[in-house]
Amino acid sequence: MKEAVVVVDMVYDFVYGILQTDRAQKIIPPIQSLIKAARESGNEVVYVGDAHLPTDPELEVFGEHAMKGTPEAETIKELQPQEGDHVLEKRTYSAFFETGLDLLLRRLNVDSIVITGLHTHICCRHTAADAFHKGYGLTIASDCVEALTDEDHNSGLEYIKTIYNAKSLTSGEIIESWATGSKVKI
Ligand code: ZN
Repeated sequence: MKEAVVVVDMVYDFVYGILQTDRAQKIIPPIQSLIKAARESGNEVVYVGDAHLPTDPELEVFGEHAMKGTPEAETIKELQPQEGDHVLEKRTYSAFFETGLDLLLRRLNVDSIVITGLHTHICCRHTAADAFHKGYGLTIASDCVEALTDEDHNSGLEYIKTIYNAKSLTSGEIIESWATGSKVKI
């Protein structure tokens, strides 16, 4: 069985556009390292980003953002998907809700996921909830997720660890575990 790095909402509007915070930019380098290592170790990389329709309930909370078919809903240049990666669109907080992610992961023989992206206490948390409910193993890459404030980030991380039984590891620790695993197989 394999592991998949799920990259949540690393799209233009969240990093450089209407929902922009400087905090989002600092997770780009560790995500780059993590997805590179995932590809090299035979694990999977799945992007699930917002692509909203005007009737989506969430827009009543946050206003229009990452609207489907606009440049603002595209993955940022620094994290462009590569051949062999998978790209799905979402319309709610969870990367699993009506996106086909569960079917994709099952077809790829993935039984655990690593959550990265934005924001720790909203979309990462809801994605973690669905992963937990569906029985996936769950790791949160602690230096690859961010939120709008320290408090939101820390409370989100704590909730995901406590309630969804997620391992909280740094990108370096996850990369090391893949390297160790591949050595064992050899
Ligand atoms: Zn959204």
